[in-house]
Amino acid sequence: KQFEDAGLHPVMLKNVQLSGYSVPTPIQRYCIPAIGMGHDVIAIAQTGSGKTAAYLIPIFNKLMGRAKKLAAPRPNPATYQPGIDPPVRAEPLVVIVCPARELAIQIFNEARKFCYRTMLRPCVIYGGGPMREQIAQLQKGCDILVASPGRLIDFIDRPHILTLRRLRYMVIDEADEMLHDDWSEEFSKILSGGEQEEGNVKYMLFSATFPKAARDLAKIHLAETHVRLR
Ligand code: AMP
Repeated sequence: KQFEDAGLHPVMLKNVQLSGYSVPTPIQRYCIPAIGMGHDVIAIAQTGSGKTAAYLIPIFNKLMGRAKKLAAPRPNPATYQPGIDPPVRAEPLVVIVCPARELAIQIFNEARKFCYRTMLRPCVIYGGGPMREQIAQLQKGCDILVASPGRLIDFIDRPHILTLRRLRYMVIDEADEMLHDDWSEEFSKILSGGEQEEGNVKYMLFSATFPKAARDLAKIHLAETHVRLR
């Protein structure tokens, strides 16, 4: 099966071609239709398998036609003066949580490619990065947020920076790494935060291994109708 057969929006198909991807990887062949059908997805996937595009392509494809309707109104970047005009909270439609800064930047760069000409605006935040700059980025509008868990919680906990009110998709990438680092409590907080405020959130869990902690997380938060990959 090819990308051309996946029922993608022409703009998305073009972005896939511009990325130089001609043949979908196995995980993409599995995830693109599953996410397209609205399933929650659990995927056992290593780095190098093409897992990032496997969730970015179908999620963006679902959202792009509706971006105008779903996305938060954003200030005009030409006239908005941070610090003078009232603060604008970021209200992402998609949050992708991943353990490390390098991975976050990698996912962000991939997201930028697939956001091209879609109206979706990606942002990235991570611990150890310049907070003020990250906030300024968020305030320019943020539909797709790639985040490390610590910084994500930090920003959610502060007033006027970030809310998951409009969240539609929550992706947990390299879940085992994060459970390793004992982010499980933060996870539960993030995951249930999304659920409480917006009843219609789809969850995607990507993990290189599938230890008990990851299975428990999936059991609590993912719908019955998930797809499992080996
Ligand atoms: P990932 O597993 O998401 O870290 O991706 C590993 C690498 O494979 C990245 O450099 C991607 O840009 C690349 N990639 C992902 N999907 C494809 C594809 N269908 N064809 C060629 N390269 C791909």
